[in-house]
Amino acid sequence: MTKRGIFKTADESIKAAAAAQKEYVAKFTIEDRDRFIAKVREVFVRDMTKICRLEYDETKLGRYEDKLIKNNGAVVDTPGTEMLPKEVFVSDKGLTVDYFAPYGVIGAVTPVTNAAATICANGIAALASGNSIVFNPHPSATQSAHLAVDLFNEALEDEGVPLNMVTMTETPTMDTLDAIIAAREVKLMIGTGGPGMVKTLMSSGKKVIAAGAGNPPAIVDETADIKLAAVTLIQGASFENNLLCVSEKEIFVVESVYDEFIKEFQAAGARLLSRDDADKVTEITMHELENGTYAVNKQYVGKDANVILKAAGLDVEGDLRLAFFEAENNDPYVMTEQMMPIIPVVRCKDFSQAMEWAYAAEKDNRHSASVWTESIKNATEFGRLINTTLFAQNGWTLAPMGMGGSGINSPTIATPTGEGPLHAGILTRRRRFAIAGGYNLL
Ligand code: NAD
Repeated sequence: MTKRGIFKTADESIKAAAAAQKEYVAKFTIEDRDRFIAKVREVFVRDMTKICRLEYDETKLGRYEDKLIKNNGAVVDTPGTEMLPKEVFVSDKGLTVDYFAPYGVIGAVTPVTNAAATICANGIAALASGNSIVFNPHPSATQSAHLAVDLFNEALEDEGVPLNMVTMTETPTMDTLDAIIAAREVKLMIGTGGPGMVKTLMSSGKKVIAAGAGNPPAIVDETADIKLAAVTLIQGASFENNLLCVSEKEIFVVESVYDEFIKEFQAAGARLLSRDDADKVTEITMHELENGTYAVNKQYVGKDANVILKAAGLDVEGDLRLAFFEAENNDPYVMTEQMMPIIPVVRCKDFSQAMEWAYAAEKDNRHSASVWTESIKNATEFGRLINTTLFAQNGWTLAPMGMGGSGINSPTIATPTGEGPLHAGILTRRRRFAIAGGYNLL
């Protein structure tokens, strides 16, 4: 069967989305949008195993069983119209209402690491805010994007909504992205991905909501519940093989509880690598750039720990979720967003040093960080210093996204442009309307 919402050219996908959006806002109320989103959730949940299997087979990244949790969260917990702000001003002089109107057509760039989740969540936020959305997905996740776009259209068609509120070009490329950016109908761009993409969108001249790279540090201090920290950090750093931008990427532990943390980390299932073994892993997974910084070898991104260890010539057995090694604060694995289930643990003489090193590792991405402490003073001090969009105390860095904590789900954390977790409310234009009393100011 032909897939719905998928067009040969970018121009066709934009024009179709623009026509659909006009009809959508003219025909339906905000309450109708809730009904449509409920149907979208139902259809995606129905096909969740198919979506995750295809995404895993196509991208070869992460873990199938973790994708089920991640993608289900994006479908079920991405908020809808409840995030649309409502503002009314009343006085003896009249009544003024701020109405949060759609932009029209949104262009959205999505990453290979969160292929299906980003399309589901950005799509739901677009429908809730009254916008249509044209995706330019990562080329390595094209089939997954086709499926997600088709499912949106299936769900909406069942509800009598015009087709093409969610569209994409059959074969997304940089040229199709250029066409989306240049299109008059596209009033807002959302970009989720790495620094090259953020730079391109931010120099586009269009309004942009940009969700960029992170390198989230976690600090463990002497007041923390060390066992709980160890168990949770294994889950956080190994979830989806550390693909997520929010996942913990390096751990700083204060001297007085360092040995205890290492013991608990191992007891909870993380494999300690010797310095020699860590060097072998670094050798194959990272390469030095001309400016002395490091970049990851993409073939190992999102792979199982055992696949990486085996490739480095180490013995492996069972299904290892996470390996770690004791590292210096300037180790390539500390300073680089590895997106692999191998995590460096750094011994710090005290909390001040841990904060200083964690701040350097986060590199002012202002993305995510966590602290394991019972001290409000320490948590506050680190939170103020690191100044990240997401910050967790005694929880994994996914907690502020509603996984194991409170908060809204969003696989798009707008960091460089500052909107935070994406939702319908930030995909709107403020329009003001007043009923006044003919007051004469002259
Ligand atoms: P990527 O930057 O390689 O690709 C992301 C998207 O941007 C893709 O659609 C790709 O085709 C496009 N793209 C790549 N280079 C571009 C350029 N120069 N100009 C325009 N578009 C370009 O990233 P990825 O490997 O798909 O995803 C991983 C990266 O994304 C990590 O750095 C991760 O931290 C980040 N990320 C951030 C968030 C967030 O919410 N802040 C969420 C997921 C991923």
